[in-house]
Amino acid sequence: MPEDAAIREDGTRATDRLPCAPLSIRDVSETERATRQLLVELLGVFYAKGWVSGTGGGICGPADGGGLLLAPTGVHKERVRPNDFFTVDPADGRVERVPDDPDLRPSECSQIFCLAARERSARSVVHSHALSAVLAGDLAVDADHVAIRDLEMLKGVRGVANRDVHLIPVIRNTPREGELVEQLRMVLADPRFASAYAVLVADHGAYIWGDDVWEAKRHTEVYHFLFEAAVARRDRHKEDPR
Ligand SMILES: [Zn+2]
Repeated sequence: MPEDAAIREDGTRATDRLPCAPLSIRDVSETERATRQLLVELLGVFYAKGWVSGTGGGICGPADGGGLLLAPTGVHKERVRPNDFFTVDPADGRVERVPDDPDLRPSECSQIFCLAARERSARSVVHSHALSAVLAGDLAVDADHVAIRDLEMLKGVRGVANRDVHLIPVIRNTPREGELVEQLRMVLADPRFASAYAVLVADHGAYIWGDDVWEAKRHTEVYHFLFEAAVARRDRHKEDPR
């Protein structure tokens, strides 16, 4: 059980199973069923790219009734099935619905996903453990951000032009994923990062979001390109510093 699970007023944790309705796939709308299927497909695509390998990373998307569908933790992400998602309330991270499989536990990203939902109206968030995200975080050195410029792909981030200098915040890693919340809260409130749809976590990966699953997918692909380009350019300039 994640240590960062929300504690209810009665002292039980949000991940305790008793008050949660078990999932019956018959109870969900056609829209939620399609979302579950899409999230599963995306986990497979992202796994193939090395972004959610080694059981790391995660994803969430919109559930019926304003909740968030949350992938389970500690499982091979390319093998998650449509019925394996938890439903959490983004207002407080409370688990509203559990999957049939009693061995599954909700992602430790839950509080971070919920914060992005509250502060940035994100309805879908991807957590990546990509090597390119880790190496891009190194580019910050002692700063709290990396600056991306001079790339056509910048236009793939909503509201950003290819001539903009796009700042992506970088926060410090913590022993547990849920402990990133305070740092994330601060960078989301920082006006320098108002146009960012991603946060890098040093030595760890990135969180990337969008208004819906398709925008989160686009932003995830665009930001990984930006990470790779920034790292490759830094390496080239080291070898040929002109
Ligand atoms: Zn992680």
